[in-house]
Amino acid sequence: MSLSYRRRCTLAKSAIPSDTIYSDTFEKNLASRAQRLARAATAAALLTVAACTGSRQPSIAITHVSVIDVVSGTTRSDNTVIITGNRIVYAGPAARANVPGDARVLDGRGKFLIPELWDMHVHAFVWVFSDFAGPLMLANGVTGARDMGYLIDTTLRWKHDIAAGRESGPRLVVGVRVDGPVGRAQFVSHVASEVDAVRAVDTLARKKDGSVRADFVSTDAFIPRAAFFGLAKEARTLRFLFAGRVPLSVSVIEASDSGQRSVEQEDDLMRACTSRESVFRAQLADTTNRRTGDDPLQLRSQARAILSSYDPERCRLVMETLARNHTWVTPTLVAYQPYAHSFDSATRHPEWIKYVPRIVEGGWQHKVLAVPKPDSAMVQSSFSFERTGALHRAGVGLLAGTDAPRAFIYPGFSLHEELALLVRSGLTPLEALRTATYNPADYLGSLDSLGTIGVGKIADLVLLEANPLTDIRNTTRISAVIANGRVFDSAARAALLHHVVTALKRD
Ligand SMILES: [Zn+2]
Repeated sequence: MSLSYRRRCTLAKSAIPSDTIYSDTFEKNLASRAQRLARAATAAALLTVAACTGSRQPSIAITHVSVIDVVSGTTRSDNTVIITGNRIVYAGPAARANVPGDARVLDGRGKFLIPELWDMHVHAFVWVFSDFAGPLMLANGVTGARDMGYLIDTTLRWKHDIAAGRESGPRLVVGVRVDGPVGRAQFVSHVASEVDAVRAVDTLARKKDGSVRADFVSTDAFIPRAAFFGLAKEARTLRFLFAGRVPLSVSVIEASDSGQRSVEQEDDLMRACTSRESVFRAQLADTTNRRTGDDPLQLRSQARAILSSYDPERCRLVMETLARNHTWVTPTLVAYQPYAHSFDSATRHPEWIKYVPRIVEGGWQHKVLAVPKPDSAMVQSSFSFERTGALHRAGVGLLAGTDAPRAFIYPGFSLHEELALLVRSGLTPLEALRTATYNPADYLGSLDSLGTIGVGKIADLVLLEANPLTDIRNTTRISAVIANGRVFDSAARAALLHHVVTALKRD
């Protein structure tokens, strides 16, 4: 790349707006630290230079590679995939490929090419995006992420900067968070009534000129019942997607019947599979003596009662309803693992902690101390790999998501853990792979441009050293990541990780 070209590139600034206010002390400290860093630092030259290369790059050819068809499960060996700009212009037998003379060639011999990996449940803006979640996701082959809701204009700015090649990061699907009148977080729209909820959908989903603002409304636990049904009705009228936690004021079946596109996290379903769902929901909805962030404790305290009131027939009805309504489920199994295993070393992953801002890690360590020595067997049995497998067998679409950066859940890295846990739940490696590739594209209505490898599709791809269909763990054996037509080879991926470590040292 020439210096003159470099000079034409503008430095993108990390951005956490100054009005960020979180609802508790830890988050407030985190936000103020992030703001200070954001003001002090411009995005790394590394990332900016990478971001500036998009339109000028020659074509890319991944030659003699085994292309995995995530729909049929077949592997097309000795294929070549040619990318021009950010689109695939050829995908077929290597012998018939017309590779441009100036193409950058990635030798795919012995390697496997899969479509983009999505993390369908993240909270990516807990820290300066370009110093933490963004590079970690890209380095791990996660080129798409559904953010469950932060300050909407900040998230949208990142989304557009990434799409325009001005910033490095995963393709973002942007939620805007709606919750009940609890907490004071300014990135949440607090609704108390049906009128509030309708107004929230109208103003957050679309601008005054009618153009789309957020990609979806992200529902949270404390939306009052009337407000939820108002929100659902307005979203249906506008044909606007709403998804997220099932509010405690309604049942999973009611949420599904109201058009909620996806249900997040296993604990909503766990309660739905008991004969006392409404009682458990009422207990959790009572915030009188509850601190924010106590969910795992609440879960554990209810676990024994949940197990004793488990109702397979009701569970079957719930699953049938979800399948009939095409309501997807994002189990986020990995998010429960640290709690289920007493925060042992295997679930804390100390080898990745250097990629985590100290203040975020501090919050995680606080969880270790604050959560009493768990009854691991009880926590483990309160969420269920079998139930996830049963959802799958019942025809409910599953989405891979991590809930990063929940305690010891690492952006990028933990998505691969989730895929392995989905296999443990009874999915085949192919079915697990679909939850992060084809299924997200289907869920988002983007199968015309994403989700599989073919001519005309956006070039979001992961080149693997080994076959993920024989062992899902092979998704971690990344040779190169192609994000929106840009190659991140081993050196570039190492540089992304190095950037995070370096940026966090300023912390
Ligand atoms: Zn979440």
